[in-house]
Amino acid sequence: MVLLVLDKHAKPKKGPLMSLDLARNSAVFRRFFSEDRRALFEQVRDVSQRVLAPDTCRLHTGNATLEEKLPELAQFRGVGIPAEFGGIAEFQGIVDMVILHENLAYGSASASAFFDGNGLFATPIMLAGTEVQKRKYLTDLVAGKIVGCYGLTDLQCGSDVANMSTLRFAKQGEVYVLNGSKTFVTNAPIAHFTVVFAVERGNEERYRNITVFIVPAKNACADGFVAEKPMDKLGWRASHTSIISLDDVSATAEDIVGKIGDGFLIAVTTLAYGRLKIAAEALGLMERALDEVIKFVRERRGVGGPLHLQPVAQYQIDEIAQLVQATRDTIYSTAFLAETLDSDGKVTNFATEAAQAKSFAGRALQRVVNLALPLHGGSGFTFEYPISVIYVDAPLYMIGEGADNVLAISTGASIVGK
Ligand SMILES: Cc1cc2nc3c(=O)[nH]c(=O)nc-3n(C[C@H](O)[C@H](O)[C@H](O)COP(=O)(O)OP(=O)(O)OC[C@H]3O[C@@H](n4cnc5c(N)ncnc54)[C@H](O)[C@@H]3O)c2cc1C
Repeated sequence: MVLLVLDKHAKPKKGPLMSLDLARNSAVFRRFFSEDRRALFEQVRDVSQRVLAPDTCRLHTGNATLEEKLPELAQFRGVGIPAEFGGIAEFQGIVDMVILHENLAYGSASASAFFDGNGLFATPIMLAGTEVQKRKYLTDLVAGKIVGCYGLTDLQCGSDVANMSTLRFAKQGEVYVLNGSKTFVTNAPIAHFTVVFAVERGNEERYRNITVFIVPAKNACADGFVAEKPMDKLGWRASHTSIISLDDVSATAEDIVGKIGDGFLIAVTTLAYGRLKIAAEALGLMERALDEVIKFVRERRGVGGPLHLQPVAQYQIDEIAQLVQATRDTIYSTAFLAETLDSDGKVTNFATEAAQAKSFAGRALQRVVNLALPLHGGSGFTFEYPISVIYVDAPLYMIGEGADNVLAISTGASIVGK
């Protein structure tokens, strides 16, 4: 029991209160994280600050590559993967993945994108794969023997998952033959295997006509598989994204994840987990923006004196800090919910909360960069300052793993009811 005694109140730190101070003092960190999770947070943040953050701009401009950084990040490949398949026993939960993605994105959103691609490959296998698939793919993923990717988004209208049509399959004897394309596939140019969501030719049964297959990708020199030229993107520039095309690619029953027709359910469940990781990355970027803006204003002279002492600047920076704090609480409360079992022993449904958390984080990040970049003045408009990279990475968080309007359609409908 904590007593309400005024003179026992700890003295607040005088500041500056960098994002790590705010994180360490948060209820999430102090009351809800286990010792292990606090250690994981510190460890990932430390690597991110040492290995990624000094090169945020160089990664964006192509003067450094993610591949150079991957050996230092390899220690985190087992986060979120069951220990029996090589994962780290203490860190198998979604909260651990949120910790990982928040802190990787702090240094480079592109680095967290690499883990997104691998994670999106692993999640359907963890949710619905066979023991053989889990042993084969998850173990190799953790060992760094393979890179994975995830082909869900259709070329015509990615948001309308139930009506996908640009990749189809047909059964021919004992094999399934896949033809068509998917777009915006993170890691596709460097991946060895991909999961793809394909519609059964001639089957019009909406929600029941999509099946998930694991197929070899470019780096496995697969026949009939093409990862097209990497896209020239606004942000996430050190991460590799492309259209993939399958031309008469054959798969067998052993390559199907779950059952024929399970694809829609697997997609929406994978997205619920994916949205939490993406939201966490938006949080990491907001924390970095906060630190960068504090650093900048403390060194810069403003009208009337040091910029950090000007009330208007302080007001704006306080708003950034408030958004960081609120976003942290929203994301982690949803992540803890996603680790909660209902009375029937099943994971509770957290899809609405995950969509809201992602949407909240994406919008908060937009507000943060719109405050933090102008506070850098003209310097913020150059790729010498990390805030510029965060600014161009930010819109992805309104789009990836569910565009904001589309999330609003589904969460809004759930909230008001039919
Ligand atoms: C860098 C990057 C990496 C990605 N990585 C992957 C990946 O690894 N795997 C993968 O499968 N996908 C990936 N994606 C795809 C991403 O998930 C999609 O871009 C996203 O789901 C939106 O789909 P879309 O681009 O087809 O937009 P569209 O579906 O074409 O939507 C366009 C716009 O219309 C809006 N809209 C749609 N319907 C309505 C409506 N009824 N009312 C109002 N507005 C509406 C949407 O909100 C959106 O703003 C990636 C995308 C990017 C940019």
